[in-house]
Amino acid sequence: KAGQAVLARGGDGLSAVESAIRVLEDDPEFNAGRGAVFTAEGKNELDASIMEGAELRAGAVAGVTTVKNPITLARAVMEKSKHVLLVGAGAERFGKEVGVEIVDPSYFKTERRWKEIEEIWRQEKEPLKKGSLDRRTHHQWGTVGAVAVDASGHLFAGTSTGGMTNKRPGRVGDSPIIGAGTYADDASCAVSSTGHGEYFIRYAVAHDIAARVKYKKLSVARAAEEVIQGPMRKAGGEGGVIVLSPKGDLAFSYNSEGLYRGYALKDGTVRVFLYED
Ligand code: ASP
Repeated sequence: KAGQAVLARGGDGLSAVESAIRVLEDDPEFNAGRGAVFTAEGKNELDASIMEGAELRAGAVAGVTTVKNPITLARAVMEKSKHVLLVGAGAERFGKEVGVEIVDPSYFKTERRWKEIEEIWRQEKEPLKKGSLDRRTHHQWGTVGAVAVDASGHLFAGTSTGGMTNKRPGRVGDSPIIGAGTYADDASCAVSSTGHGEYFIRYAVAHDIAARVKYKKLSVARAAEEVIQGPMRKAGGEGGVIVLSPKGDLAFSYNSEGLYRGYALKDGTVRVFLYED
């Protein structure tokens, strides 16, 4: 709704994506901004990226710990720097220079996520019982993303995350990697991914979907299914994507239990889904 409101006011698609993602970053329910998951050292390290499909401009940040809305900093990297991806201390220094909101790292901490990491640390100390499932590999994806198309068929995509629970400090997932977690090209589609980032990087998921639309002339739905249900899944890669074409065709594809998703249309229709349609 936040993104749709921007477009309804005549705002641009990039601001629509940024606004939608900011709402989700500020909401502690999601694994992005406040409420992000913890690293193996009990810190929050945030990744985000944004892209527009007319000129393929993109911006991204990784491993930031004090930037309240990483998606806004990713946009600043795209619009106000000569670079695409800034990490860690350099990204934060750039954030201060361009005036994004800076918070104490404790801002991101929520009780729920802290309990999760404490439980993982406790389980790691216990030897695995024979025949029991290794719950340490059980993931819940809470990364947030948005794709938008404006009245002229220009595409935009963005993704923001705290990454994966118990990740090594310094680990960077797919979300800030253009072509893995995020991609937008007016000649094909806009994509935002969530899932086991290592697989999404290795299989260049967002770009692979866009390439199938562009070169194989597949629908966004077909292209997304081929990639999400294809070799990556067989290799163990779990997750999903939201995909949008310049004409407004929308596809959701996932091989995980569910994908919390929704859309808002120009005519005011708003729908949300958690598991099946
Ligand atoms: N894709 C994210 C990462 O690997 C995690 C997620 O989607 O929840 O960092």
